[in-house]
Amino acid sequence: MTICAICGINSDNINSEYFSANFYPLKLRFSLYTLQLKNPFGLAHGTRNSTAIVLTQLEHKGIVGFGEASLPPYHGETQQSVVRFLSALTLEKFENPLETEKILKYVNAIAPGNNAAKASVDIALHDLIGKMLNKPCHEYFGVKLTDKKYSSYTIAIDELKTISQKIKEAKEFKILKIKLGTRDDEKIVHIVKNECNKKLYADANQGWSDKSMALEMLHMLKENNFEVVEQPMPVDCEDDDMRWLKEKSPLPLLADEAVKRYSDLEKAQELFHGINIKLMKSTGMAEAHKMILRARELNLKVMIGCMTESSCAILAAAHLSPLADYVDLDGAFLVSNNPFKNPELRDGCIVVPEKPGVGLEL
Ligand code: MG
Repeated sequence: MTICAICGINSDNINSEYFSANFYPLKLRFSLYTLQLKNPFGLAHGTRNSTAIVLTQLEHKGIVGFGEASLPPYHGETQQSVVRFLSALTLEKFENPLETEKILKYVNAIAPGNNAAKASVDIALHDLIGKMLNKPCHEYFGVKLTDKKYSSYTIAIDELKTISQKIKEAKEFKILKIKLGTRDDEKIVHIVKNECNKKLYADANQGWSDKSMALEMLHMLKENNFEVVEQPMPVDCEDDDMRWLKEKSPLPLLADEAVKRYSDLEKAQELFHGINIKLMKSTGMAEAHKMILRARELNLKVMIGCMTESSCAILAAAHLSPLADYVDLDGAFLVSNNPFKNPELRDGCIVVPEKPGVGLEL
């Protein structure tokens, strides 16, 4: 018998056949944790050294699903707001976790916003039902594992002198995502190009406020063989400016901060060539999956991305990664105290687990 040190549950039960005869309420538990970043994480809007998260567990008949809410400060959710949200849920009234749609509809209706808090329930629920059905999450969503999808690794803005060290730390990754949107963008690109000849993505994190200047930067990035650029201008810039930039851009532009949920997709199609879907914005796997399918109908390119997250949310997103054009799931590799085993990285690709549920290893 193997008792889990974190949840106290007999993990020998995890693959046991699911059969519901009596009333077994869903039980939700949660705990607070702080992810420490290996390097200060500098973005166009500030630098930080840690990311607060909330880890959730949903239990049904002795089977436990794991979830996570990651809370970077610029998204407006905190551990306190997540605790408030989760405490308001009465999931005990549900006895069949397979009624996913009903449960998630209830969770979504409790309060607006709280997207990461909602994701922490959604991920735990999908991990739980995967374990109940003895299926990995990608199979549950009907996602086929096809070609290799390389993940990018983020080089965040920092002092210029640390960039080469960060590139060395990324040696296992074949693609780098360079954070821009600073006064030093050209210098940063110059240093990166001198240090490596990897595939490159850029993320301006809303840092270019003038459309003509943004266009100049896009041409500079095109000349330096960058492939794609995320969120060039502020979310609250004029739509006409963003439309102008989309039309003239020599590189595909992806919406990140400008797109959170399914309802944002139609607008994104007007202003961008694609979207960056993150579970913490989309309220979890179910809506992220719907967003990918709809994005395809709208002819939008899809990146599946992340915040700084533990292996829990990263692996959950990895199950949807075969559906994306660009994979940016480096979050767990940027932290020094991941509470779970790191995702497996093979030849620069995050290995999509074949174990039931999310496939998290404690
Ligand atoms: Mg971004």
